[in-house]
Amino acid sequence: MHKVAMVTGASRGIGRGIALALAERGWSVAMNYHSNAAAAEDALREVQSLGATGIIVQADIAQAAARERLVTQTLERFGRIDLLVNNAGMAPRQRMDILEVSESSYDEVLATNLKGPFFLTQRVAQVMLSLASEGTPSPTPTPQPGIINIGSISAYTSSINRAEYCLSKAGMAMMTALYADRLAGAGINVYEIRPGIIDTDMTSVAKTKYDKLIAEGLTPIRRWGSPGDVARAVVAIAEGYFPLSTGEVINVDGGFHLRRL
Ligand code: NAP
Repeated sequence: MHKVAMVTGASRGIGRGIALALAERGWSVAMNYHSNAAAAEDALREVQSLGATGIIVQADIAQAAARERLVTQTLERFGRIDLLVNNAGMAPRQRMDILEVSESSYDEVLATNLKGPFFLTQRVAQVMLSLASEGTPSPTPTPQPGIINIGSISAYTSSINRAEYCLSKAGMAMMTALYADRLAGAGINVYEIRPGIIDTDMTSVAKTKYDKLIAEGLTPIRRWGSPGDVARAVVAIAEGYFPLSTGEVINVDGGFHLRRL
């Protein structure tokens, strides 16, 4: 039996990298996307070309009914979920100073980056718990189920022109701690991976700025991160290399978080 991962926002960027890395290691992948069907279909073809099984599911993670459909379709196709990766996320549509930011942008970013992952995790955790209590017989040992949240250095770094994004990622840090605490007794470990500056569509708007900052030494490791860098950390967790760690934050940021003098 293949292990099954649900990856939100798997059509592009970091989520796509994660889906591919898991597929490469034999995982089946339920790949969620929001609006870019062509990218999702392309990502699915890549997964299949690795010999893995996948499905794509359109769902706005901010919407309750859509989240439910994502879970239902995943269970209909695969019958289980061993790993949830809360990766889908958005930057504010327009960067606005904290003194000008609109309530609608605040609501949209918080609903996508925090409320959606919070309630998807609640639902998937219930599925994991009920499958565990049924003691589903498995011909091959599967690793313990797990949950990974893709946070950000913005959880602790002030960017005054995208306050709502920073707040959403700070909230996700506490969300990781809360679910880690609640689910440890059931053998479900919860982790946050905290990327730094990663080369994706999300950061393409600020490419020149980040090129310069990185060249000047903003990060001790002087290069952009890639989706593959984040995906390798996901794989290490997914494959069970951190069995006695939960609520852990794994920085994938070129050392950005280090205080330096
Ligand atoms: P990206 O290139 O913009 O891709 C975003 C992905 O999320 C796409 O697959 C998109 O689907 C999906 N998505 C967006 N809104 C969604 C919604 N409401 N429901 C379902 N899916 C949705 O972004 P990325 O750079 O890969 O970022 C992925 C995650 O990493 C985000 O949580 C982001 O905050 C975090 N992160 C990124 C960086 C960075 O430097 N790039 C750094 C730290 C943290 P469609 O293709 O359908 O639009």
